[in-house]
Amino acid sequence: MGNQIKITEDLTDFRIKATLGVTIIALCILTPFSINNFLQARFTLGMGSTSILILCAVNAWNCVQNRYRPSLILYGIVPAVTLFLFFSFQEQGAIITFWCYPALLAFYFMLPENQARVANVVFLCIIFPQAWGILDQAFMTRFAVTILGVSAFSAMFLRVITAQEKILTMQAVTDPLTGLLNRKTLDDKFEEIISQNHRTGTPMTLLTLDLDNFKQVNDKRGHHTGDKVLRGVAEFLQKRIYRRTDRIFRIGGEEFLVFLYNTNTADGLEVAEELCSGLESTSLLPDQPVTVSIGVATLRPDDEWQDWMKRCDENLYKAKEGGRNRVVS
Ligand code: GH3
Ligand code: MG
Ligand code: MG
Repeated sequence: MGNQIKITEDLTDFRIKATLGVTIIALCILTPFSINNFLQARFTLGMGSTSILILCAVNAWNCVQNRYRPSLILYGIVPAVTLFLFFSFQEQGAIITFWCYPALLAFYFMLPENQARVANVVFLCIIFPQAWGILDQAFMTRFAVTILGVSAFSAMFLRVITAQEKILTMQAVTDPLTGLLNRKTLDDKFEEIISQNHRTGTPMTLLTLDLDNFKQVNDKRGHHTGDKVLRGVAEFLQKRIYRRTDRIFRIGGEEFLVFLYNTNTADGLEVAEELCSGLESTSLLPDQPVTVSIGVATLRPDDEWQDWMKRCDENLYKAKEGGRNRVVS
């Protein structure tokens, strides 16, 4: 769909912050224990905890560099922590149960939802049999119940936070009336689009659409009907612009912008003509067609996005001047 955006990408920022926080805390807490293991001549545990510290440091460095690497956490930190606690049970016994709770919580803070659940299950499958052999029955029962409780609370907490974060991200990038991408998202995406074109030379074409005489629709039929027409236009555009790489934005009151990836001027013009005639024949109002004027512009190699937008707007202006309900490239 033209207006789909990868919400998961926007969640990354949130995860980087959470992961960095957890990793720094882990480094602060674990370092003295790691040193103490060596001082007490517990060299295996000392080496184990040092490995975890190194993985945490790499993880923190990635976060500082704004890189999120869940695979390092899932395939590095999670197994290292799980095996470390497994062997620590043998060496130090029941006292190790205390470390299982923060370890589980850390997985939920650092990993995406599905991976956190996998890490949780794997952790319990390895730790439970080990604890079973070491703890007495009363202790084991309490440990099992409390750690299962913490697992359930953490999974539920992450579910709520992730759902909430998705809603907030969606609200920030879309226009509430039509659900299309909003102006702010367009500004954010433009730099990325231009640099991609400069790197790969992929042709890209913009269409700026402005509904014709829309003020009259509002004046004659009321704002509510005007809003319904705007939603109808958005639905129409979403049906017609279906390539995954294309994007549709609502950039102003009755102005829309369509970004066509890997599209030259001739193909962009064809799409624009189809939109123009297609909208006219869509019955958005019972007794009057809704028409649109469209400006088309293809990105040139030395264009900044302001130049590209400006040429597109100039063509739109020419389409209006030329009598509306037409396309100019
Ligand atoms: P032109 O063909 O030259 O574009 O004429 P126009 O009447 O479409 O252009 P103009 O810019 O004069 O009017 C745009 C109108 O769009 C003004 C305002 O009433 C209407 N509008 C802007 N935002 C909204 C909105 O969110 N909902 C509704 N219902 N109308 C809106
Ligand atoms: Mg306008
Ligand atoms: Mg208009």
